Amino acid sequence: MNRLFLRFFVLVMLAITVASFAVYFAVTRLFGDPLEQVALRQSSGEIFLLEEFVDKAPADDWLHRLNRVREISKSEFELIPLERAIDGMDAEHRIRLMQGGIVINIEQKSLMRRVDLNDSRYAGSSEDVIQVHNLPIAVGVEFRVEALRYLIVALFLLIPIAFWSRAHWRGLQHLSEVANAFGEGKLSIRAKVPEKASIFPLAQCMNDMAGRIEELLEAHRTLLHSVSHELRTPISRLEFGLELLRNAAKNPALDKRIDHLEGDVTELKELVEELLSLTRMEQQKTLDAKPFSLANTLLELTRQLEHEFSERNLSVDLAPGLDRNGNDIIGDQRLVMRAVSNLLRNAAKYSNSQVKLSVEEPAQDMVIIRVEDDGPGVPIAERARIFEAFYRVDSSRDKNTGGLGLGLAIAKKAIHLNGGYLSVGESRLGGAAFTIRLPWSGSTANSASLPEPGRN
Ligand code: ADP
Repeated sequence: MNRLFLRFFVLVMLAITVASFAVYFAVTRLFGDPLEQVALRQSSGEIFLLEEFVDKAPADDWLHRLNRVREISKSEFELIPLERAIDGMDAEHRIRLMQGGIVINIEQKSLMRRVDLNDSRYAGSSEDVIQVHNLPIAVGVEFRVEALRYLIVALFLLIPIAFWSRAHWRGLQHLSEVANAFGEGKLSIRAKVPEKASIFPLAQCMNDMAGRIEELLEAHRTLLHSVSHELRTPISRLEFGLELLRNAAKNPALDKRIDHLEGDVTELKELVEELLSLTRMEQQKTLDAKPFSLANTLLELTRQLEHEFSERNLSVDLAPGLDRNGNDIIGDQRLVMRAVSNLLRNAAKYSNSQVKLSVEEPAQDMVIIRVEDDGPGVPIAERARIFEAFYRVDSSRDKNTGGLGLGLAIAKKAIHLNGGYLSVGESRLGGAAFTIRLPWSGSTANSASLPEPGRN
């Protein structure tokens, strides 16, 4: 049952309960207590005997008739003093009794009425009340019938509400799924809601908004891509010009200046290349997916990065179930290598002395790759933002480490394109722990186990 329907259900039930009480009080006020009417109807036999047989007797025969009725009726007729009868009675009933009316008591299944108002039956008869006990009163059935009537009305009200809320609920769920997917980066996704649905205007607004955001992001990417692309030519010219200048100048004093300039140009070139990689990945719609061995890829990568760890200790810990010859990941090997390489380079930059690359035993079609270090770590408040392009935690911390602020953005994009996730947390080594989750297509149960990897 959907939440919308549940709320309506509770609301309708509450409304019906309140309505039945309102009806009961209104009817009681205008026409008298309906339950009393029912009880009077059910006691009509005894009332008939009293009014049509006993009361119609001549004055001197009245008591005699009453005794005869006592003998034949299943109910008990008795005479009690008026004073006792009105003791504890509410005002309305007391007035009725005093005026000679019938007062009925549903719980005690009894009724009372004054014998008469003017001592006409016998001496002091106006001070006596005739009380009839054991009347055949059973308002429970009437009450249940009434309750059943309200329940049936409520159920019939709930049927159209159920249909209505089901359609709404489905529509809202669809909108929330679309919003989630859009938030996760599927910018082309749009809500598909039939035109006659009541949430159609909302879905349309959402689609328009998504369209505008997609256009803006696309324009932003295109601009970044074009600018980076256009910068390549002047940078190459600068490199070439500096080379010519060095040859022409042949001046050791100028050489130092030229070295600095060349350093700046190289940095600029790296920035442009990184930006181009990122924008290309962001525009990439399909993946060049091929099966490859994760263990082999990571071991190859650590070999390539050996020089980065000349002053740090890199330990590699791959789960024994990983197969070096297996094709256990289906994706773009180059992009996975790029992501892990960016994380390892960062770890080398920010660690004090220890870096660890580990892969856990794959479970539930996912494999976890972790890059940890013993550096300063990433503060909790910064963890979501460090994956944004050009975002750097603390410029004073990053001053010495260099870097462009693009490495993590590229790594995250590369992992996303491969259907995985990248997140950051704390490491037991004391610094940051970057975790990659990738879809796993190999099995570990029957695969040959990997020889213990070499440790640096
Ligand atoms: P950068 O080129 O500046 O390293 P990244 O995108 O790779 O750019 O990283 C963004 C920021 O995240 C870095 O500036 C740094 O502050 C922080 N960071 C990245 N890796 C680590 C790490 N292993 N330990 C601590 N901070 C890190």
